[in-house]
Amino acid sequence: MSAFEQLPERYETIRADQEQTYRDLHRHPELSHQETRTAGKVAQRLTAWGCRVEQHLGGTGVVGVLSNGDGPTVLMRADMDALPVYEQTGAAYASTVEATDAAGHRVPVMHACGHDVHVACLLGAVRLLAAHSQTWRGTVVALFQPAEETGDGARGMVDDGLATRIPAPDVCMGQHVLPGRSGHVATRVGPVLSAADSMRVTVYGRGGHGSMPQNTIDPVVLAAMIVVRLQTVVAREVAPIEPAVLTVGSIRAGSKSNIIPDEAVLELNIRTYTEQTRRRVRDAMVRIVHAECAASGTTREPDIEVYDSFPLTVNDAAATQRVATAFASHFGERAGDLALQTASEDFSDIPRALDAPYTYWGIGGTDPAQWDAAEQAGTVAATVPANHSPLFLPVIQPTLRTGTEALLVAAGAWLAA
Ligand code: ZN
Ligand code: ZN
Repeated sequence: MSAFEQLPERYETIRADQEQTYRDLHRHPELSHQETRTAGKVAQRLTAWGCRVEQHLGGTGVVGVLSNGDGPTVLMRADMDALPVYEQTGAAYASTVEATDAAGHRVPVMHACGHDVHVACLLGAVRLLAAHSQTWRGTVVALFQPAEETGDGARGMVDDGLATRIPAPDVCMGQHVLPGRSGHVATRVGPVLSAADSMRVTVYGRGGHGSMPQNTIDPVVLAAMIVVRLQTVVAREVAPIEPAVLTVGSIRAGSKSNIIPDEAVLELNIRTYTEQTRRRVRDAMVRIVHAECAASGTTREPDIEVYDSFPLTVNDAAATQRVATAFASHFGERAGDLALQTASEDFSDIPRALDAPYTYWGIGGTDPAQWDAAEQAGTVAATVPANHSPLFLPVIQPTLRTGTEALLVAAGAWLAA
């Protein structure tokens, strides 16, 4: 066994401190673009462990560069932001934090997507790499990204000159804690996360008295026709073997039963796995909205605004095989295949901008006994809290250890001396 392969065995030396860091992060979640406390803690630690530290990239982004002689450069990324969710886990270290969101509303804040796990694991991996530099050669770039949940944090760092502030990576990697047996890791070659586009559609009718519809153009009926007709996009325009989702998650119009309002606002979300399907679904959506407006006889064109756009995540074949082989050798039966995820990520904006191959994997966060019981009963979907749920709470161990080892093992496939 090489010295690097023994590195994960050193985990016990950082476990207590890492668990404490994790609980602290969980108790102090910060909304997208507001991750100042988290970024400060990260920067302070990276500096203490001998990294060259770049701060305030794209707002609160932090990068630590650990140089250790000639060799490949590996970029590892963790996202730092939390969500406007009221935590209901009942954990001793549960969040009671409130913050003001971008729209000026007071909202509860919770690490409901597990980004606190990602930060703790990446810090742990850097600490072990820094303490045992004789086991590897090359450069580690530890990137802590803001605002994953709003889809613009990675782009913000790129636009702030990321490429000129770090050495060019040979590979970029990222991970996410997911529902699944804690202690397990899983990855896949090719598409892994969907592209996602959120859109706000405003249609304009002509308001009036509910008793005199003949004098109006009813935007409620118009919006209803759009919702129904949009259901045909995936069913009739996308090939049956091609996954795609189009959901109308919000529809708002009117204030009173006997008033026909002037306008209606629909919010839609599209998930696709190829750029071709993405274009097809978006084009169909635009066509249907305009056609239904014409059918209603509206005199003002609809407004269609795209926001929260996430890129497609497609794992590089060679880099992912290399990581999968390393996972299989280290984790044995605890390494498996990741199912295609309908969730989305902006991680790939970073390697795309740096022109580097990338690979992304999942780690389980569910208590193994709970997972096994749910799987046997066929109740996983109903009983295992998933990311963004107010009940989502990864078990601390072996989740932190597994996420830390996964980073070390994957990076070691390039860096091991
Ligand atoms: Zn999330
Ligand atoms: Zn997430």
